[in-house]
Amino acid sequence: MNISGKTKLTGLLGSPVSHSISPAMHNEAFRILGLDYVYLAFDVGPEKLKVAVDGLKAIGIRGFNLTMPDKVPMIELVDELTPAARLAGACNTVINNDGHLIGHTTDGIGYMRSCQDAGHNIIGEKMTILGAGGAATAIITQAALDGVSAIDIFRRNRPDAFAQTEAFAKMVTEHTGCTISVFDIADEAQLKSSLESSRILTNATNVGMAPDEDRSPIRNASFFHPELIVSDIIYNPRQTKLMSMAADFGCPTFNGMYMLLYQGAAAFECWTGMEMPVAQIKENYFKA
Ligand code: NAP
Repeated sequence: MNISGKTKLTGLLGSPVSHSISPAMHNEAFRILGLDYVYLAFDVGPEKLKVAVDGLKAIGIRGFNLTMPDKVPMIELVDELTPAARLAGACNTVINNDGHLIGHTTDGIGYMRSCQDAGHNIIGEKMTILGAGGAATAIITQAALDGVSAIDIFRRNRPDAFAQTEAFAKMVTEHTGCTISVFDIADEAQLKSSLESSRILTNATNVGMAPDEDRSPIRNASFFHPELIVSDIIYNPRQTKLMSMAADFGCPTFNGMYMLLYQGAAAFECWTGMEMPVAQIKENYFKA
C-alpha cells in the first residue's frame, strides 16, 4: 500500500475494534482497484464519539463505519439519515460529503445480498426473524423496504423492550406496507404456525454464537418444513446448531459470513463510487 499526500481516510469507530476484519477487507479492496484510500480502526466508545467525529470531519475523512456500541448514538451526530437508517434508528456507515455527514445503514443490505448470493429470492415472501436487537432491526427494515410481504418477529417478552419493538414494527409497517407482527419467543405454538407460512427463518439473536455453539434458538426440529430457508447471521461457528438441525431436516441454510462481506461492500460503494471486488475478497478473507 502506498500512502500519498492525497490518500483518502476511511475507518471504523467502536469498542472493541481490534478483532475486526473490516480493515483487512477494505484495504485489500483499495489495493486491488488501485484506489488511493486507507481504512483504519479506532477504539472509540460513545463517551468520546462526538469529539472523535468532529475531529475526523475537520480533517476531511471520506467516511467511516460504526460498530457496537456506537451505531445508535451516531444518529444524533449526522446531518442527514437515509430512510433505512431513520427507520432502523441506527447507522453503521457515514459518508462525509464536504462536511455534510450522511448516516446510512448497510447491515440489512448486507443480509439481503447474502440471501441473493445463496440463490434465494424472498421478495414477496414471508420472513420469521428471531431477536429484535441492532442487527435484527436493520434486517427487518431493509427486508420491508425491498418488498418482503410479511415479517413475524419473535423476541423475549421484557415489558418495555417488547412495547418498543411493537412500536418499531408499527412504524415500519406504515412506511413500507410490509405486515410486521411481534410475538413472544416463548410462544411455541405461534412460532410453529409462523414458520409454516414462512419462506425464510432468520436467527438474529446471539443464541448459538461461540462459545455457546451447542445452543439453538429453536429446539424442536419438527417446526421446520423442507421449503424453509434457515439462515443464521452468526458466523462463528460457520455452521450453528440451528443450521445443522435444519440441514438434517433437508432445509437450505446459510450463515452470516456474507452479510458481513456485503455490508462492507455497500459502505465501500458509498465512499468510492466503485463496486468492491467481492469475488477476490471472498477468496482471501471469507472462506466458508
Ligand atoms: P443486540 O443488539 O445485542 O441484539 C441481540 C438480540 O438477541 C436481542 O434481541 C436479544 O434479546 C436477543 N437474545 C440474546 N440472548 C437471547 C436468548 N437467550 N434468547 C432469546 N433472545 C436472545 O446484538 P446484535 O448486534 O443485533 O447482534 C446479534 C447477533 O448477530 C450476534 O451474534 C452478532 O454477532 C450477529 N451479527 C452479525 C452480523 C453479520 O454481519 N453477520 C452483523 C451484526 C451482528 P433482548 O433484547 O431480550 O436482550
